[in-house]
Amino acid sequence: MVTNLKQDPERIRREGGTRLTDLCAPCYADLCGELTAASSDGFRELTGSGEGCMVCGGLSLDLDASAAQLLRKASEEGYIYSTFRVNVRFRSDLPHEPLVKVKSRIKRGLGLRMEASSGKVVDTTSPELEFTLNLPSRRLELESRPVYLEGRYRKLVRYISQAKWVCRSCGGRGCLDCGFRGRHFSASVEELVTTPVSVFLKSTPVYLHAGGREDVDVRALGKGRPFVLEACDPRRRDFSAAELEEYINAYAQPFVEVELSKLTTRERVAELKQSSERNQKLYTGLVVFQHSVNLPDTGLTLRDIELVQLTPLRMLGNRADLARRKRIFKMVLKPVDLRKAEFELVCQGGTYVKEFISGDDGRTMPNLSQIMGTQARCLELDLVDVYSE
Ligand SMILES: [Zn+2]
Ligand SMILES: [Zn+2]
Repeated sequence: MVTNLKQDPERIRREGGTRLTDLCAPCYADLCGELTAASSDGFRELTGSGEGCMVCGGLSLDLDASAAQLLRKASEEGYIYSTFRVNVRFRSDLPHEPLVKVKSRIKRGLGLRMEASSGKVVDTTSPELEFTLNLPSRRLELESRPVYLEGRYRKLVRYISQAKWVCRSCGGRGCLDCGFRGRHFSASVEELVTTPVSVFLKSTPVYLHAGGREDVDVRALGKGRPFVLEACDPRRRDFSAAELEEYINAYAQPFVEVELSKLTTRERVAELKQSSERNQKLYTGLVVFQHSVNLPDTGLTLRDIELVQLTPLRMLGNRADLARRKRIFKMVLKPVDLRKAEFELVCQGGTYVKEFISGDDGRTMPNLSQIMGTQARCLELDLVDVYSE
C-alpha cells in the first residue's frame, strides 16, 4: 500500500529510521512531502554518507559558492557561451520520483545565481553550454552544443582518400603492406579539414559529413563537394565562417580547399546524405579504348541512358552486392587520338562512373564498352560540379 506521508513527517523519521537524518534541512523539507511509504524504502536501504547530505552532498546549503565554482570551471576550460543549462544527476540507487522537487530547487537556485553574477542566460531547451552536476559527489561535467557548418570542399590532387583509410592487414599498427604507416594513403580530406577545425574551435571530435564520396584517384574540382562539419563540444563560438575557412585553408592547401557558407543545424546532415543520391553530378575525364574508335571531331553525344549497376567488383569485399538503378543524363566524347577520348558526363549522384565506362565484367548494363564495341577504361576522372536542389 502506498501512503502519502505528507501529513506525517514524524512517520518518515520513524519508518525511515535514523538513515533519513543524513539529509540536509532543505532536502528533508522537499522530500517529506514527496516520500510515500513505498519510496521511503529506497532511502531507508541506503547507507548514509556519514557526513553531509546523502542526496545533495551539502550543496543546498552552499549554493552561492557552488554557482561561482561552476562558472569558474567553465571559464578555466575556455568555454565561450551566452546561454546555459544546469542538469543535476543523483546517485542511481535513489528512487527518482521523490527527488523531482529537490532537483528543480537546486537547478533553479544555481541557475539564478549564475545568471546574476555572469550576465549569461538560462536556456532550458537549447543552451550553448550544459553543466551536469553529479550529486552527492559534486563531480562536474561540461559539454557545449555542437556547431554545424555547411560548405564545400575541393580536392585538388589525386591519391587522397575522403576518410582516413586504416590498413586492414595490421589495423593501424604498421606492417609491410602499408609501409609501416598503419594506413593507406598518407592524407585524407577528413583529416585535412577536421584537424584545423578541432584546433581552432578547441573541439573534439569533429566530423566531416560529405554528400557522396569520390574515389581516391578522383579529384573534386569546380564548386566542390557539399559537406556539413560537426564540431562537438566546441570551446569557442565567437568566430565567423570566413575566419574559420581561412584557418582551414592555411592548413589543407595545396591538397584540399574549402568554402564555408554558413552555420547550420543537425538536420542538414541527413538531408545532405539523401540529396546526394538525387543531385546531378558533372564529371570530366579521359577514357582509353582497346581498339581504335571512330569518333567525329565534333564529338559524340550520348543521352539518357538508364543503368542497372551491381556493386562494383572492387568494392564487393566491403559492401553488400546490390543492384542500383542510375541514370546518365548526358555524355560527350571528344577524340584525343584514335584510342583516347576526353569526356564530359552528367549523371545521377551515386553512379559508379568508372564501371559505366568499363562495364565491370557485365555488372553495369548498359555500358560504354558495349556501346562503342571495344573495351573502354577510365584513365582520369574529376568531379567538377554538383548541382544541388
Ligand atoms: Zn541535501
Ligand atoms: Zn599495415
